[in-house]
Amino acid sequence: MNKKIMEAVGFKKEIEKVEHGCCPFCNKKIDEEKDFRDSLSRKEFKISGLCQNCQDKIFGNKTRRNK
Ligand SMILES: [Zn+2]
Repeated sequence: MNKKIMEAVGFKKEIEKVEHGCCPFCNKKIDEEKDFRDSLSRKEFKISGLCQNCQDKIFGNKTRRNK
């Protein structure tokens, strides 16, 4: 997760959740080993802290997904 960027846009609470291993959007506890579909999703998680489901909701799965 990029703390500086998250803090800069005012996501303090979200940062706390992420630091406890929870998705800042849905509060789901994230298992980094199992919850992600591929390395792209894991990379996104490192940036935003979002779980796979929320990544799908927010980014959609059309642009960077191969079915
Ligand atoms: Zn989520």
